[in-house]
Amino acid sequence: MMRRLETLGLGLRARGATAATSRRMLSTEPLPTAPVFEKSMPSLATGTFDWRDPLKLSASLTDEELAMYQTSRDFAQRELLPGVVNATRAGTFDRGIMNAFGQMGLLGLTVPKEQKQRWLPQLASGAKVGCFGLTEPNHGSDPSGMETKAAWDGYTGEWVLSGSKTWITNSPIADLALVWARADADNGAVRGFLIDRAAVDRVQPGAFATPAIEGKLSLKASITGSIFLDGVRVPRCAMLPYARGLGGPFACLNSARYGISWGAMGAAEACVEIARGYTLERKQFGAPLAAQQLIQKKLADAVTEIGLGLHAALAVGRAKERHDFSPEMISLVKRNSCGKALEIARNCRDMLGGNGIQDEYHIMRHSTNLETVNTYEGTHDVHALILGKAITGENAFVSGAAYRR
Ligand SMILES: Cc1cc2nc3c(=O)[nH]c(=O)nc-3n(C[C@H](O)[C@H](O)[C@H](O)COP(=O)(O)OP(=O)(O)OC[C@H]3O[C@@H](n4cnc5c(N)ncnc54)[C@H](O)[C@@H]3O)c2cc1C
Repeated sequence: MMRRLETLGLGLRARGATAATSRRMLSTEPLPTAPVFEKSMPSLATGTFDWRDPLKLSASLTDEELAMYQTSRDFAQRELLPGVVNATRAGTFDRGIMNAFGQMGLLGLTVPKEQKQRWLPQLASGAKVGCFGLTEPNHGSDPSGMETKAAWDGYTGEWVLSGSKTWITNSPIADLALVWARADADNGAVRGFLIDRAAVDRVQPGAFATPAIEGKLSLKASITGSIFLDGVRVPRCAMLPYARGLGGPFACLNSARYGISWGAMGAAEACVEIARGYTLERKQFGAPLAAQQLIQKKLADAVTEIGLGLHAALAVGRAKERHDFSPEMISLVKRNSCGKALEIARNCRDMLGGNGIQDEYHIMRHSTNLETVNTYEGTHDVHALILGKAITGENAFVSGAAYRR
């Protein structure tokens, strides 16, 4: 008996065997005969596997959501894809796409509630462009150090804005800027101010300057700039009435971050689609690259992460609909989608070899763009700190000196 166990490569207590089975194996009693099934067990797997939708996200979406998905996808293929390579190559932003986005009903969602009636129709149609000014040259991840000031002028009944912002998407072409500043008449609380460029330029030419930032190697087809405020005067009503403290900008950021958790995965999907097609066509060592295990592993990892990432984003979206979500949930999916998409894009670029660095194959554009997406709206590491604080109760944002309480 012992020999039988040894031949099978089993110790005295075979791995996974219960005490009862081990006992039976050691006894001299005849072993019970195995039950014979007349028919094989019916398979519970009745669905098919679709690598484009590995975990059947589409089954969790409503008809309206599916229609929105299809319309947005068609729009991107028809209106955006044909021009994006040349725009990226030249580093130019096509202002006309804002109108096209507007016609699709895809704009104007980040305007604060209080100002929607005044600005929403024009922003939503793409007739006007807005920008969101939070980051400053000395304060990126830590906006609590904000230096931009809003001084109350009691004689004229105006706020006077001074300071600077940097890395602001669309600032050079914005008709409307939402700028966050410390209001002296409100004990230095952070408040949001809407600046109507045309109104300021009429009476204070040069006070509101928004030069473009040159030399970007990421998001080249998008325009990014600074904002310089040299005593810009805005009326009392330009201040958002209900947003007070950093909760104001963070509420806007939560929506944008949630959107990014979907968008980053979209970029990853595009990379996988291109890499799969390429490696099926391309033969090396007498076989398509897609037949090689290393290539298949990379594709399997990518499809897995995309499937999981999209379902995680949907879970947060559903929690938002139920008003049962926390900012940490958004940090989790923003961070996960960006980090994973960046890794997927880099791996897909690798699968295309030399062609992978060519812009007409698109993947490297996605990977360089994802470097920004991984950084803005809270960097990958800053979201780790948000989650770390929620997990441990310890605040790791503070400097070492401040931590030594
Ligand atoms: C193309 C582009 C568009 C943008 N658009 C906008 C916009 O429209 N509006 C706007 O307000 N901002 C915008 N930003 C700014 C963006 O949000 C900031 O770049 C981002 O928040 C990071 O700030 P920072 O660049 O100052 O980096 P820093 O804050 O200086 O961070 C540098 C590095 O240090 C790390 N770090 C920071 N703090 C800690 C810490 N406590 N512990 C460990 N590591 C830390 C970060 O993770 C990062 O890796 C944009 C940026 C880019 C690149």
